[in-house]
Amino acid sequence: MTSRLDWIQQELDGLKEAGLYNHIRTLSSPQGAWLVVDGKRVLNFCSNNYLGLANDPRMVDAARKIVDKYGVGPAAVRSIAGTMDLHLELERRMAKFKGVEAAISLQSGFCANLATVPVLVGKEDVIFSDELNHASIIDGSRLSGAKIIRFAHANPADLEAQINAAKGSYRRALAITDGVFSMDGDVAPLDKIYEVTSKHDVMLMVDDAHGEGVLGAGGRGIVDHFHLHGKVDVEIGTLSKAFGVVGGVVAGSPLIVEWLQQRGRPFLFSSAATPPDVAACIAAIDILEGSTELVDRLWENTRYFKAEMKNLGFDTGHSTTPITPIMLGEAPLAHEFSRELYNEGIFAMALGFPTVPRGKARIRVMISAAHSRDDLDKGLEIFARVGRKLSVIH
Ligand code: PMP
Repeated sequence: MTSRLDWIQQELDGLKEAGLYNHIRTLSSPQGAWLVVDGKRVLNFCSNNYLGLANDPRMVDAARKIVDKYGVGPAAVRSIAGTMDLHLELERRMAKFKGVEAAISLQSGFCANLATVPVLVGKEDVIFSDELNHASIIDGSRLSGAKIIRFAHANPADLEAQINAAKGSYRRALAITDGVFSMDGDVAPLDKIYEVTSKHDVMLMVDDAHGEGVLGAGGRGIVDHFHLHGKVDVEIGTLSKAFGVVGGVVAGSPLIVEWLQQRGRPFLFSSAATPPDVAACIAAIDILEGSTELVDRLWENTRYFKAEMKNLGFDTGHSTTPITPIMLGEAPLAHEFSRELYNEGIFAMALGFPTVPRGKARIRVMISAAHSRDDLDKGLEIFARVGRKLSVIH
């Protein structure tokens, strides 16, 4: 039988032949240092649960208590009947945590980028975008209708050259960079980028999805890390990684927040975050403001794991964050490595082209404060075994 949808099957077959098909694994356990993946208990080196908050009893308790009071659903978009005092409390607390004047919460980090870029620039404008920026920045940029000019990765000199080349051709300009790049774990040179954007009067937006809860004092993020308070126009954050829940945040000036309330389409046309999500996010801020213990442990684990992997002879790339790529070269080797790790009891993702450039395939290890020293040692022992078996190390 033929149908108007047969082309989809052909596309899917094409993905499988090209080795680009996403095989989605199923978890039947909470997030943590260990997971049950497809029925097998494995050490978790895949999640963005940097601080181990996704299943922290204090977070679970906050979510449980608010369900008794406010139920589970917002039942409306924020601008109609979906704004609860809880949302406003999260926004106030987040602004204070990040040292900015105002913040607005959205349903996810992806939504935050989709909402923000189109309210800042339009058809007559230009976006200068790091060539490795996240998909949600790219999609938000496309939605805006502005001209998109890519600059070389983490390269302020190229950003300046692109700004100079575009001079006079636009009304407004916005430069956007990820804070921490999710494939390599490198940090954007935001101080140098700011020098360029302020000199040329270009608005500056940073997506701190992998920097929040990780960089800066007590996990306050990349702006705090570089002491750029009051200088970066817009900070995008996610509550889905270090904060352990789900949600997005836009932080900056009260003007930007008010403008998003009026014009941000995911704010206006998509339902608000649920009460338990919001309450858990507030609990995460309580935890981070109360102690640096989790952030300190995350960094201790990160330093230990990276140093030991280097001692074993692995190439861990240029990462300076908990995102730890294990560089392997060609994609088939990375996939075989990942399969062997899973067989031995480690869940760690292989990344190949087109997610990363050809010849730069890797295993990506995500370190968490939830890992104990024993967990990391177990991981190192298995990496060493698989590395020797596949002749990656000797
Ligand atoms: N920005 C970056 C840089 C990300 O890595 C991600 C998540 N992969 C997002 C935004 C989207 O965040 P969320 O999962 O909260 O939608």
